Amino acid sequence: MKKPHILLVYTGGTIGMIRDFSSGALRAFDFDKLLKQIPELNLLDCTMETISLSEPQDSSNLSPTHWGLMAEIIESHYAQADGFVVLHGSDTMAYSASALSFMLQGLNKPVILTGSQLPIGDLRTDAKENLITAIQLAAMAQDLEPQIQEVCIYFEYKLYRGNRTTKINAEHFQAFASFNHPPLAESGVHLTLAKDLLWRSPHKTLKVHYQMNRSVILIKIFPGLTADLLKYMLNAPGIEGVVIETFGSGNLPNIPEFLEALQEIIVKGIPVVNVTQCSGGSVEQGLYETSQGLKAMGVISGGDMTTESALAKLMYLISFDQGSDYVRAQFGRSLAGEITL
Ligand code: ASP
Repeated sequence: MKKPHILLVYTGGTIGMIRDFSSGALRAFDFDKLLKQIPELNLLDCTMETISLSEPQDSSNLSPTHWGLMAEIIESHYAQADGFVVLHGSDTMAYSASALSFMLQGLNKPVILTGSQLPIGDLRTDAKENLITAIQLAAMAQDLEPQIQEVCIYFEYKLYRGNRTTKINAEHFQAFASFNHPPLAESGVHLTLAKDLLWRSPHKTLKVHYQMNRSVILIKIFPGLTADLLKYMLNAPGIEGVVIETFGSGNLPNIPEFLEALQEIIVKGIPVVNVTQCSGGSVEQGLYETSQGLKAMGVISGGDMTTESALAKLMYLISFDQGSDYVRAQFGRSLAGEITL
């Protein structure tokens, strides 16, 4: 039987860097050459091919343009590859995974993002386990069908739904968490898939949506934020969508000028999405007096979505140019398993 064919897409990040022993600094290296130093890859029961962005980047430098490049690689290799492993810096991995989950509509193959906290050449590296297991997960099939058919992040023994994850630690090998959704797989003595949790797209053909609207702003509310500053940010020229990160279950100070400032832009047809600053739990507008005003004026609840996911979903939805009622309706639906309904 034909072995699964996995495409490794290198976008940059620590995993493919080497340490300059004189200065101690990390620098980018030829990823193909690095892979040749991992003989374990030859033991995997699949064939592999690698491709790199022409200019691999620390993930802090990645933008929607790079998400488009990743999507383009996936689209152009979709017929011949059975799965994709995207090697990516951890800093913005949750943003890229969220964005790709919306851009790759009708995805029926695995796209697993992984990376590492230490370079692949370091003695204590976490890169080898992350890479090898991500490839094994991407190659898992049943009756010739890939088992995983969505955008995921694999890091430190756990496979997460990409649009449910967030980076939680810059030091520990366990750099990611998915507070509102259980892991999709765990790697122990066995690789155990939580089969009933796996996402299945209602569409059977991949359709890549490349436009992501960049005229969105993310505002974190904090005690002491003045109404003047809030107004200033909301009235920035060209704004087409706003995500506000509020307290607890979606609460904002009861200051009338805050509500007026938000109302003004909602009336202009600019969608405002409310997500919580808490790592886990959900926005529930109207539960407290401090969120009743938001609900009444039509702020969209982001439910239990991560900030990364809400931002990417807003960029995606606004790009259809169908008005704020459309955006609201789509925020009330799960497009790629990003929200609990
Ligand atoms: N700064 C790096 C990046 O995100 C960290 C990492 O690779 O994990 O590209």
